[in-house]
Amino acid sequence: MINFETFFKVSYGLYMVSSKFQDTKAGYIANTVFQVTANPPKFGISCNKDNFTSEIMKKSGAFAFSVLGEQASTGLIGDFGYRSGKEIDKFRGVNYFIGETGSPIVTDSCVAWFDCKITDTFDVGTHLLFIGEAIASDLINLDIKPLTYNYYREVMKGFSPKNAPTYVEKSQIKGEILQKVFENELWQCQLCHYTYESEKGDPISGIEPGTKFEDLPDDWTCPICGADKSLFERD
Ligand code: FE
Repeated sequence: MINFETFFKVSYGLYMVSSKFQDTKAGYIANTVFQVTANPPKFGISCNKDNFTSEIMKKSGAFAFSVLGEQASTGLIGDFGYRSGKEIDKFRGVNYFIGETGSPIVTDSCVAWFDCKITDTFDVGTHLLFIGEAIASDLINLDIKPLTYNYYREVMKGFSPKNAPTYVEKSQIKGEILQKVFENELWQCQLCHYTYESEKGDPISGIEPGTKFEDLPDDWTCPICGADKSLFERD
């Protein structure tokens, strides 16, 4: 039997993966970026076949990724993690430059970047596993710590979007989280699955612990994706 709570014990970082083919730029937030070999330095990324970026990477044969920092703006995570490049220009208002491979490299809220040429692609069912050799990399900001997936979940209260390899159906999350539903008021963002807990408030937006959802200011928005209150449902 699978206990889905074990899945949250596997640790990851959070990365901005990006690519460009001709004039089309694409990017998304990934937690599955991992180094596979040291010599030559190769990295693997797992990308859902439905992701717009997946198509662009197949065509361009390259990707870049930037390591997100702990101060990453939730608007950036919202746009790149929960919206499609088919609907919005994710790069508007974002600082980036074009790397050697032609991939746009995002520098906002990031600690370091890597520019990679794809050497292998594996079909793993719902996702494509891209292996890329890093041909260039550099540091961006030494003052901020890399954002870990655990920090994102525990402190920022974020969940994986549906296309992420680590996505878990809400109904499969048992124990601690669901128990809270009965003692605490939980409201969930229907866009990104962020859960507002009245007991904890929203420290990111300066909302005191113990603040009921109804008492949140009308202009309060989801700290992860920026959705307004109307997009929240009682859990
Ligand atoms: Fe949200």
